[in-house]
Amino acid sequence: MTDRYAVFGNPVSHSKSPRIHALFARQTGEDMSYEALLAPTDGFVAAARAFASAGGRGANVTVPFKEEAWRLADRRSPRAEVAGAVNTLEFGPDGIFGDNTDGAGLVRDLKSNLGCDVAGRRVLLLGAGGAARGVVLPLLLEGPEELFIANRSAEKAARLAVEFARLPGCALPVKPQGGGFGELAGASYDLIINATSAGLQDARLPLPLGIFAAGSLAYEMLYGRDTPFMAQARAVGARVADGLGMLVEQAAEAFFVWRGKRPETGPVIAALRQP
Ligand code: NDP
Repeated sequence: MTDRYAVFGNPVSHSKSPRIHALFARQTGEDMSYEALLAPTDGFVAAARAFASAGGRGANVTVPFKEEAWRLADRRSPRAEVAGAVNTLEFGPDGIFGDNTDGAGLVRDLKSNLGCDVAGRRVLLLGAGGAARGVVLPLLLEGPEELFIANRSAEKAARLAVEFARLPGCALPVKPQGGGFGELAGASYDLIINATSAGLQDARLPLPLGIFAAGSLAYEMLYGRDTPFMAQARAVGARVADGLGMLVEQAAEAFFVWRGKRPETGPVIAALRQP
């Protein structure tokens, strides 16, 4: 029987995940279906449980349900545990397993698709919301020279940095720092990752001149639109990438959790970039 998977979100009709997983399934010969399911904002848990009871094998979870998915899981991977958010659920006889593949997706996109190693680089992470939270540990584990988290609400970034600097049982090679955009004056970074949602509102981030070091990569987690952050970076000659590769890589990581197979992501990214 065909194994059923889904992505839950609200809204969800725009999601590219059904197309991505259909391409993965075709490529690997897996007998599975994958659909986008709209859950009411106050009805995610009921919807996910109903899907599992009807034979669903697993699900992705997107905005705004990742924290609820974390609470729903009976067991969590260490990376989901520290992220405080789950984007991948697996329904099995031992209950619900929760994972977070966003950070692994970002790191794989940076390293494998964009040829940008994090090790030894000065890294600036913009934003302190769910997406930023999910990528802090995977970035730190790569061994950057430094990681600064800057956010509009400065205290949120400072709190996030302290939390990850004090992670129990984890001897990290570098401790992150955090604060407001005002603290960036005079600094420059090799890799700047925009994990804010400012681009959705076409809002320009207050980044000081000189923040993009020579040869730096500006990574915008949003995809499907050109944002003021990308324009700011391009104007000073930085290399620019959007988050489509991260989206496909986090999906590949979820596919691996469910099916134990790693699909080839390059052709899928190329297919999604076709107009
Ligand atoms: P959240 O709502 O959790 O966080 C939003 C963040 O953006 C906060 O840090 C907020 O700052 C900041 N922000 C919002 N508006 C502005 C603004 N005008 N100026 C400066 N900062 C602003 O969202 P998520 O963390 O879940 O998502 C962030 C982005 O990442 C989204 O655009 C999302 O689409 C993208 N994303 C991409 C993925 C991919 O696979 N490519 C995966 C996950 C997310 P404050 O705290 O001050 O409010």
